[in-house]
Amino acid sequence: MIDLRSDTVTKPTEEMRQAMAQAEVGDDVYGDDPTVNKLQALAAEKLGFESALFTCSGTQANFIALISHCQRGDEYICGQQAHSYIYEGGGAAVFGSIQPQPIEFEADGSLAIDKISQKIKPDDIHCTRTKLVCLENTHSGKVLGLDYLKDVSNFAQEKKLAMHLDGARVFNASVKLGVDVKEISRHFDSVSVCLSKGLGAPIGSVLCGSKDFITEAARWRKVAGGGMRQAGIIAAAGIIAVSKEVQRLEDDHHNAEILAKGLAEIPQINIDMNQVQTNMVFAELTMNNVQQLADYLKQNNILINASNPIRLVTHKDVSSEDMRQVIEVIKGYFS
Ligand SMILES: *Cc1c(COP(=O)(O)O)cnc(C)c1O
Repeated sequence: MIDLRSDTVTKPTEEMRQAMAQAEVGDDVYGDDPTVNKLQALAAEKLGFESALFTCSGTQANFIALISHCQRGDEYICGQQAHSYIYEGGGAAVFGSIQPQPIEFEADGSLAIDKISQKIKPDDIHCTRTKLVCLENTHSGKVLGLDYLKDVSNFAQEKKLAMHLDGARVFNASVKLGVDVKEISRHFDSVSVCLSKGLGAPIGSVLCGSKDFITEAARWRKVAGGGMRQAGIIAAAGIIAVSKEVQRLEDDHHNAEILAKGLAEIPQINIDMNQVQTNMVFAELTMNNVQQLADYLKQNNILINASNPIRLVTHKDVSSEDMRQVIEVIKGYFS
């Protein structure tokens, strides 16, 4: 199967499986798991923070970040289509009594500073207290510019707002820009990173921040049922993800480009090539026959999500040869 539904479908590498089998472990709720501690130290070092916390998922990492930054009745500003707003079950509101204030994303995946500014609530008993800006990088495969990050973090500092980055795919962004990931993360008070997407680990995310912030976050992780015991078994794969799988993301970006260029030649498909920046391709069908196409592709051992536009995601378990095959099969379908 050539599975293009997401980069979450990646299987752990052989090296990860070996490391998992041999991982030194302890009870992480006591802070005793040397492999978890090693992963946390490594993630903190790579992203340029004092501390880091291993979490079950990206959703848990974002939730813990929001609830650690904001108190009951506070508010965070995020994108209208932000993962933390629409794809995480409203956890911050449901469990945290924190109000989201969504605003439309700009076409490049940023939140316009003037739009953020307009939504900051005045100091007034009628209003929530605006505490935090939450950005996403990459957002739908799009990379935020470093100049923008500098401007928005200066603005947030001026307004005394904290900054959180949902950096599920932040390494895709750093690889695309050809910069150390710290050039991105240094603009934020906290950053969450998924180990279980393009980086190939089976489970887990890391949340990075200051020592005090992570102490608070560890408390909320326990509340959220995320206190794991001999978690070194999975953290071992995470260590390989952050230390060895980052540069490989370049291949995924290259494959997305091959796929996008090939599909763009098909008259029934529209692709905005400006949006093809990392490992995602959004292919819009001019006719709404996407379910039929998905069924046809499945018969040809290709998996996609039947949405329009179709989001196609490249990752370590698909090759450039696979991309050529997908293009041929889709061309065959339309002819
Ligand atoms: C996948 C993803 C998450 C959450 O990750 P899970 O591990 O699936 O909970 C958060 N933000 C973004 C942008 C994501 O793509």
